[in-house]
Amino acid sequence: MPKFFLTTPLYYVNAAPHLGHAYSTMVADTIRRYQKMRGYDAFLLTGTDEHGQNIERAAKAAGMPPQKYCDEVAALFRNEWQPLGIEFDSFIRTTDASHTRGVLALWARLAQAKAPDGQPAIYRGKYGGWYCQRCEVFKDDSELRQPGNVCLVHEQPCEWTEEENLFFRLSAYQEALLALYERDPEFIRPETRRNEVVAFVRGGLRDLSISRTTIQWGIPVPQTPEDTAKHVFYVWLDALTGYLSGIGYGQPDAAKPAFERLWPADLQLVGKEILRFHAVYWPAFLMAAGLPLPAAIFAHGWLLFEESKMSKSKGNILRAVPIGDVIGADALRYFLLREIPFGQDGNFSLEALVSRYNSDLANDLGNLASRVLTMITRYFHQEIPYPSAQAQHSAQDRRILEIAEQAAARYVSCFDRLEFGAGLDAVWELIAAVNKYLVETEPWALAERGTQDDRSHLATILYTAAEALRVATGLLAPVMPDSTGKIWRQLGIGSDLSALSLDDLRKTPLRTGDKIGKVEPVFPRLPKEETLARLQQAQEASARSLPAKAPAAGSPSEQPVSAERIKIDDFLKVDMRVGEVRAAERVKGASKLLRLEVDIGTEVRQIVAGIAEAYAPESLVGKKVVIVANLEPRKLRGIESNGMIVAASVGKEDRPVLVTFVEDVPNGARLR
Ligand SMILES: [Zn+2]
Repeated sequence: MPKFFLTTPLYYVNAAPHLGHAYSTMVADTIRRYQKMRGYDAFLLTGTDEHGQNIERAAKAAGMPPQKYCDEVAALFRNEWQPLGIEFDSFIRTTDASHTRGVLALWARLAQAKAPDGQPAIYRGKYGGWYCQRCEVFKDDSELRQPGNVCLVHEQPCEWTEEENLFFRLSAYQEALLALYERDPEFIRPETRRNEVVAFVRGGLRDLSISRTTIQWGIPVPQTPEDTAKHVFYVWLDALTGYLSGIGYGQPDAAKPAFERLWPADLQLVGKEILRFHAVYWPAFLMAAGLPLPAAIFAHGWLLFEESKMSKSKGNILRAVPIGDVIGADALRYFLLREIPFGQDGNFSLEALVSRYNSDLANDLGNLASRVLTMITRYFHQEIPYPSAQAQHSAQDRRILEIAEQAAARYVSCFDRLEFGAGLDAVWELIAAVNKYLVETEPWALAERGTQDDRSHLATILYTAAEALRVATGLLAPVMPDSTGKIWRQLGIGSDLSALSLDDLRKTPLRTGDKIGKVEPVFPRLPKEETLARLQQAQEASARSLPAKAPAAGSPSEQPVSAERIKIDDFLKVDMRVGEVRAAERVKGASKLLRLEVDIGTEVRQIVAGIAEAYAPESLVGKKVVIVANLEPRKLRGIESNGMIVAASVGKEDRPVLVTFVEDVPNGARLR
């Protein structure tokens, strides 16, 4: 059986897993299942990246040794996947002893390697530059915003850093990398990302500092007689090697065959923010080490939540497991794959999730399954009916089976290209066609009339519809493994859906006379408002249950006061006024939000504020508050907010505490 080796990024353990991590991993699991269905021996590697300065700092802030900190957060990642229906074959932690062996094995090759220009690939040198602590990388001028040398990814100032380090002669690999991208246009996907990388490499490459002496939390570089300083490996060299060590590279005997069978990877999935490490550094390291290159690196986009990137600092983090607990992990998987074009940024909203659940899963697929299976139960004693071979087998019946065949073909060509949304569209066209077919042929009316002819046509219709349902269910299995398994069993098919091949799906139709299972709704309709409220509550409960050591949001003490100074004129641009709360109420479906009416002397403003967990609405009426009055209006949950309430943000949960005055102050007074 040919192999298909795919990887997710190794997730950084500086925070607990959120929906973004789940997205990458759900996609990887879907690909793994799909490749198995295509007849491949699919192998998924995932894991955690646990070294580097950020982790050293996070552990210190949590008051614990780094290893203990890593153990706790890595366990959160490991335990995240099962409830989401994700199966993996290997989970590598970069603090595993086997990983250290892998890194040292790679290092032994790099330390001896010659770069394409004939010089040693590794050398000692001094380096200074603007370093982003969060990216753990030195930044070029083009990657910094002035003033303040701000990292464009993290929106925080970089630090000037100088070190005497070991360097990798990346500059000598420019031509080889460009030749690779040229020779294999599919090496980096999607194309827009490929073009960015090509442009970056064309612009010239700087040698890469691959060791650090300023931190201890990493894998020690073996010392040499000429260099006895204590270096640890640069975290990216360390982490990238996890794709090798996770399948046995550098291990004694027993584990090795896995590496020999699986490497090179067939597909490596990464987030777009870490593409450069995977599409530039990684192939260069592998070239230097004389190891084969992966076949493809695919960079997916970001999940945006209410239009902005989910991040700790914005406090807009969603978690996947609590969503799955309320609405089913399959529904979440389906939504992410159908709604977000893979490779691009996409908006996630709980409202859209519930809407799609009700329209696509409850209405279209769920209804089709329960209609067809209920009629077979009622009219044919729970047995797959014999389709009539006679005149009643009309063009309309045959057409459905043709559509099923076409849908399967389109689905395969889309999934092969990782175009999951389009592949699912094809399956939904089939589902819609069958639902329409049932409405037009009215099998219930045929059953009522019940002549011999009606009866045989009824059998044909129900067989045809059940057969189309079988095809749709099989195609959807990689995306929704749990619920399709239920429909599969209700169809009375004895074989294991997770072991189904595309060949079986095409060539093994339902057997007439087989008994179908007990009909139960797989996607019950969900009341929208109530479900949204439950989704919100589940998020909050999950945030509270996280161990304090893996902060859900950066605690204020970790956030240094901005280094950048502003002019008084800049400050005066912010128009802050004293106001009095006239009315306050909860915003429906949003447990954090209050809608306030605030009197600022000249007018009464409507403001939506995220303080509902800290303040009961009735406790606010009559209270003086401070608002930012000249903020652009924006909509929260469809309600326009004209200004912002000023509050301190306290503790790990960023609890809001309103600003108040000891003396009485008239409404509308300006703060300056
Ligand atoms: Zn950064």
